[in-house]
Amino acid sequence: MKLPFKVDLKDKVVVITGAGGIICSHLARAVAECGAKVCLLDLNKDAADAYAKEIVNDGYVAKGYACNVLEKESLEACHEEILKDFGKCDILINGAGGNNPRATTDNEYAELDDATKEIKTFFDLDKSGVEFVFNLNFIGTLLPSQVFAKDMIGRKGCNILNISSMNAYTPLTKIPAYSGAKAAVTNFTQWLAVHFSHVGIRVNAIAPGFFSTKQNAKLLWNEDGTPTARTGKILAATPMGRFGELDDLVGATLFLLSNDAANFVTGVTIPIDGGFSSYSGV
Ligand code: NAD
Repeated sequence: MKLPFKVDLKDKVVVITGAGGIICSHLARAVAECGAKVCLLDLNKDAADAYAKEIVNDGYVAKGYACNVLEKESLEACHEEILKDFGKCDILINGAGGNNPRATTDNEYAELDDATKEIKTFFDLDKSGVEFVFNLNFIGTLLPSQVFAKDMIGRKGCNILNISSMNAYTPLTKIPAYSGAKAAVTNFTQWLAVHFSHVGIRVNAIAPGFFSTKQNAKLLWNEDGTPTARTGKILAATPMGRFGELDDLVGATLFLLSNDAANFVTGVTIPIDGGFSSYSGV
């Protein structure tokens, strides 16, 4: 990986949830190259282990852990393991999150003849699917913060980075639960930044624009690999005219994590979106 710049994270213990996934495995690699001891947490331990192994093979420090961000007992057990392996957590990246088809409507707009069609409308959304998405993104950010921020109280250079989304600014069609949950993540970022301002913990977020990953593959690509109509709309609404690349996320992340660079920055969500959130479409 070619870092845009290096920040000093030497020997910092960085805990990253969802690190078996596409975005956070990339961020794990970036912080490892800045000298951190990286703990990759994921429901999918095989994925976390595989990314940790790649990092270790290249000479950096990392380890994979099985963890469910929705269960406090699982987070606490993982916390105990990390304390033994590396010591107290300095930085937490809350990356576990995502949408689910059970909380997604088929149509963008309700139409008068919807009842005659074989489609999943707003009225068909499954309550448990909506709860699943809301919990994964919001509770899955709150619980790890409760467990790992205890290590940070009163110590220098500690901070939390949440992962929000474009949905936090204006909801996207079809995905009401994910939109509401990411708005809650941005709101919680501000709340926690204020709450922790007297105990030395900065709390910020990044809001990635549109990245083509496995999480949103079904929305963006047809089975034959051609772009969906949604992909066309996204690119038309992104002034820079392209999907984001994982490397695009690294600079803002390192800036926010670095106490040297961002010592007085707390409560912000930085959009990394090629201009999407600034563009009215006209
Ligand atoms: P991803 O699906 O590749 O990674 C998510 C990871 O979270 C997976 O490895 C999954 O196993 C893990 N996970 C799911 N439930 C978990 C749980 N209960 N406990 C622990 N781990 C769990 O997704 P990604 O694209 O890398 O997304 C990472 C973050 O970025 C998410 O919060 C997502 O909402 C956000 N985001 C993604 C995009 C995008 O375009 N991909 C855009 C904006 C925001």
